[in-house]
Amino acid sequence: RAKQEGRNSHAFYTEQLTKASVVQLRMQSALYGALASNAFHLVYQPKVDLNSRKAMGFEALIRWHDPLLGFVSPAVFIPIAESAGLIHEIGLWVLRQACMQGRRWLDAGYEIGRIGVNVAGPQLHRPGFVEEVQQVLSDTGFPAACLELEITESMMMQEPEQVIDTLKRLGDLGIMLAVDDFGTGYSSLNYLKKLPIHILKIDQSFVRDLPDDSDNGAIAGAIIAMGQALRLQVIAEGVETEAQARFLSALGCQQAQGYLFAKPAAAEDLGAFLLSPPAAAGQKTVTNAGKDR
Ligand code: C2E
Ligand code: MG
Ligand code: MG
Ligand code: MG
Repeated sequence: RAKQEGRNSHAFYTEQLTKASVVQLRMQSALYGALASNAFHLVYQPKVDLNSRKAMGFEALIRWHDPLLGFVSPAVFIPIAESAGLIHEIGLWVLRQACMQGRRWLDAGYEIGRIGVNVAGPQLHRPGFVEEVQQVLSDTGFPAACLELEITESMMMQEPEQVIDTLKRLGDLGIMLAVDDFGTGYSSLNYLKKLPIHILKIDQSFVRDLPDDSDNGAIAGAIIAMGQALRLQVIAEGVETEAQARFLSALGCQQAQGYLFAKPAAAEDLGAFLLSPPAAAGQKTVTNAGKDR
């Protein structure tokens, strides 16, 4: 009887898996075409100083509009691109676009701070990644000091020694390194101490129910205190309310990102967030929230 049940549940899982893989396969083949047909674009979300509320930089986020599937979230298609081996090409495309846009802003005389680009695990682990980044910087003329790469804790835990070496080489180029979604992975404090990183991004799951959720408050406070102790910059993700912003600021957090300040928007819609140099017509402050995509 146990055998029978085992077989049935096996059949059940096979069916579920088949359905899942059909969707995956469809997305995979759509992704192949997407690069060629220009179906991706980037949006940029300002990162603001919590005191001045001015943009200190931007995070580039990929968007995909497929004619049949519609808008597909990167949270859905990036993992599929990773398993299909497409992430290297997509990741490089994102990096190049972001650096080109950054160069255009600099050429137009804006102070943009830094542009953050998300890097997927397989990209970071691939030999030659550092050289590829260097190549994009030299092709586009975008300064390394204006580039920030966002990586997650979990991708640093695989082959830690190799990752530390890769990060050191990126840091030596003058690139800033941020740990994205911090607090959701498993990095030990000892390992964190060894990493050549500059910025911790508090995951939005710890920001969501502030200031009411006292556990989240304690976690956010601990991350901010740890960042200060390790001399790292700390930025909070997913700030949606004034109460969250004030609470984080009181804990010593200096930077934030979130819908309260600005949604991710197309480069041409970000005028209000771009800082003109002091010599030009007065600095603009963050005032309105742009539109997503
Ligand atoms: P992430 O890097 O942690 O990006 C933050 C996500 O939170 C973005 O979602 C952003 O639009 C969203 N967000 C920003 N402010 C708020 C807020 O106040 N409230 C809420 N609820 N959400 C907010 P998005 O653009 O859908 O991206 C999801 C994830 O997909 C990213 O998380 C990142 O892991 C990945 N991703 C996006 N673009 C790229 C890319 O170019 N390359 C790679 N490898 N991954 C990317
Ligand atoms: Mg990110
Ligand atoms: Mg994040
Ligand atoms: Mg995330």
